[in-house]
Amino acid sequence: MDFRLTPEQEAVRQRARDFARHEVAPIAREADEKGEFPLHLVRRMGELGFLCGPVAPEYGGAGMDYVSFALVYEELGWADASVRGFLAVHAGLVSLCIRDWGTEEQKRKYLPRLATGEMIGCYCLTEPNAGSDAASLETRVREEEDAYVLNGEKIWITNGNIADLAIVFATHDPSRRHRGISAFLVETSTPGFRREKMPGKELGHRASDHARIVLEECRVPKDALLGQPGEGFKVAMSALDHGRLGVAAGAVGLAQACLDACVDFTTTRRQFGRRIADFQMIQATLADMAAAVEAARWLVYRAAWMKDQGLPTTKETSIAKLFATEIAAKVASEAVLLHGGRGYSNEYPVERHYRDIKGLQIYEGTSHIQRIIIARHLVGKG
Ligand SMILES: Cc1cc2nc3c(=O)[nH]c(=O)nc-3n(C[C@H](O)[C@H](O)[C@H](O)COP(=O)(O)OP(=O)(O)OC[C@H]3O[C@@H](n4cnc5c(N)ncnc54)[C@H](O)[C@@H]3O)c2cc1C
Repeated sequence: MDFRLTPEQEAVRQRARDFARHEVAPIAREADEKGEFPLHLVRRMGELGFLCGPVAPEYGGAGMDYVSFALVYEELGWADASVRGFLAVHAGLVSLCIRDWGTEEQKRKYLPRLATGEMIGCYCLTEPNAGSDAASLETRVREEEDAYVLNGEKIWITNGNIADLAIVFATHDPSRRHRGISAFLVETSTPGFRREKMPGKELGHRASDHARIVLEECRVPKDALLGQPGEGFKVAMSALDHGRLGVAAGAVGLAQACLDACVDFTTTRRQFGRRIADFQMIQATLADMAAAVEAARWLVYRAAWMKDQGLPTTKETSIAKLFATEIAAKVASEAVLLHGGRGYSNEYPVERHYRDIKGLQIYEGTSHIQRIIIARHLVGKG
């Protein structure tokens, strides 16, 4: 077993680290306060080869392996969950999904533009009555001679208001559950595609764009079908396998950011005439944080490495996502405590990380759903 990164992987990590620390982290607080996604970073991520990281160069991608891409997510997660979340959707759920399921024409048409940031992607699965139970979605598709016509409502769609291309999941017949679903590539300029900001103010990911999308007689050409008719649920789940790795790696980055902040803070803050890092209770907390972050990191790298070997990784990715997001939530909570009153204010980034991590436990399958996936691999489906 060789745990060392290759020189190519080290180089990608360095590129991502430089970008995250010098271009993302310095503006993360302002973006969070304003509630605006820093759109100029999209083209930059394109120049850096991140937007279609694992896609082959012939389609505009950087052709990187999944370990490298996990490192990109980790570094971005260290700086800002909203920017990392953008990438997990744009690349993990959209670009890789088109790579896996698209026809040659669809790949040539969309992947190069997604790779530069000329186009932004979003993934439209969740609906008011279909969240964890995605097979119960109600958005309908009607097949006509020369078109598919979509009607329905999607919510919580990351990048939804800024996207040029949406992968939309719709059913031909709700009684057929997952077998009745198809996936469609819908350009967001298509008449009948309406979008607006989600109501309410989010707990975290405040710089992310989250949309409610209404499809009203939204007519797309026959060649907008992604995969075969009735294969949409498989398309959706395979995309989530890619996206979840991004969420898990992002959680590792977020937890590492909390640990780094705590080491800095506890070695400078003094109480009772000593650095607070000199108190054993603080040291124990830091040590537990470090152990948890390392364990999560290696679960993520293992899942990414297995993907690189072409092995099935659904269970391993779910284990990585479950463990990494749960420990990151604990680490972020401890980090706020270790910062005392300062941790309660957005003067310090741990406050934002503490709010953001909750989203990672929810999207792309909640922690409950990850447990269901893992348990199904252990004991089968009843
Ligand atoms: C920040 C953010 C970004 C998002 N981005 C996207 C996006 O880009 N595209 C998209 O399609 N969706 C997106 N979502 C939606 C997200 O995927 C759903 O919120 C998530 O899948 C949960 O669905 P739900 O909110 O309907 O909760 P529900 O499914 O109603 O679940 C409510 C609670 O019940 C639990 N539960 C449900 N079923 C079971 C069960 N069988 N056993 C045990 N517990 C269960 C859940 O774990 C949860 O705790 C996003 C959500 C957030 C918060």
